[in-house]
Amino acid sequence: MTGELQVNRALFDEVMVPNYAPAGVIPVKGKGSRVWDQQGREYVDFAGGIAVSSLGHCHPALVGALTSQAGKLWHLSNVMTNEPALRLAKKLVDATFAEKVYFANSGAEANEAAFKLARRWALEQYSAEKDQIISFGKSFHGRTFFTVTVGGQAAYSDGFGPKPGAVLHAEFNNLDSVKALISDKTCAVVLEPIQGEGGIIPATKEFIEGVRALCDQYKALLIMDEVQTGVGRTGKLYAYMHYGVTPDILTTAKSLGGGFPVGAMLTTTDIAKHLKVGTHGSTYGGNPLACAVAEAVIDTVNQPEVLTKVLQSEKLFRQHLAAINEKYQVFSEIRGQGMLLGAVLNDKFKGRSREFFLASADQGLMALVAGPDVVRFAPSLVITDADIAEGMQRFEQAVKQVATA
Ligand SMILES: *Cc1c(COP(=O)(O)O)cnc(C)c1O
Repeated sequence: MTGELQVNRALFDEVMVPNYAPAGVIPVKGKGSRVWDQQGREYVDFAGGIAVSSLGHCHPALVGALTSQAGKLWHLSNVMTNEPALRLAKKLVDATFAEKVYFANSGAEANEAAFKLARRWALEQYSAEKDQIISFGKSFHGRTFFTVTVGGQAAYSDGFGPKPGAVLHAEFNNLDSVKALISDKTCAVVLEPIQGEGGIIPATKEFIEGVRALCDQYKALLIMDEVQTGVGRTGKLYAYMHYGVTPDILTTAKSLGGGFPVGAMLTTTDIAKHLKVGTHGSTYGGNPLACAVAEAVIDTVNQPEVLTKVLQSEKLFRQHLAAINEKYQVFSEIRGQGMLLGAVLNDKFKGRSREFFLASADQGLMALVAGPDVVRFAPSLVITDADIAEGMQRFEQAVKQVATA
């Protein structure tokens, strides 16, 4: 037996492309909402791998689904279909507005498929002039060149040469700004029901209803990017279900795989028919391992008691955060829904979210930021009350550290 290569954080700077700045510690093990690093130090996980680890770490149902499929069949490519992909597609169709599913490996790829489908739908149904995609400031749709260009932060797509065209940006929650841009040339409007990366900003009901009505008026598709809000995170299987507004295309990833890379685009038969054989594809999309895990995620999450628990945990989070704020006066507002919450820093602490993130890590708590002004929490949907209490105790110490420094 040869020994495993010993690795540490310093090696990251030596051998990795420097596009990330990971924390100083390297986690090696996780169970539920607890994680341990190389030194055996324990963390409470309020980050969930950025709204991904929907059932915590190493949930028995997911370990079971993965290991059972790992002993059967790993990969075929889309030259053949497979049982886990068919079962997962059937369950997604049964649980949502959708009639057809396309599988990808990430959120960006699901959105890439959605945008290409919208363009193809408009071309075939109407004309080549109907090619404009309207999205929103601060939105985030992934990092492929098309999706990052559709996203609302020009800084992320600048500096890579000519951008894909016919992409317009309106202001989120401002219906007039959509009215000013939408026309017969619009093929799709894409929005996140709660802007995640942009700072946990929920769309108002009037806004979503208004955008839906404008899409109907101008015969444009409404695409909901539920990559961050989907799969139970807001207390319903998908966030659109809170609004009583149905999208034409929905994209989902992150929590769908509970930590295994998978994404999906959901739509209707009438729209889906425009992605004919050969128009789009992916080698791994619908991979049996990914779909077996995602099927177990859907089976586990889409239960009334789990979805109810998400909203109970939200209440607990809000109570704890209000108590912490009472003592230290750092937040102006708690935004979001279910297990996707943003603590907005008040004027005194504006721009300092990273300090809270780093202090949290110091105290043994994994948190997230959503831009410079918001501390974000996206924990497991099945986090226990005891883990919430312990994590909040640590977060209070972190807040104290920053507020009294
Ligand atoms: C994370 C995210 C994406 C991108 O997903 P990847 O899996 O990183 O490609 C797209 N849209 C939203 C709303 C997201 O939060």
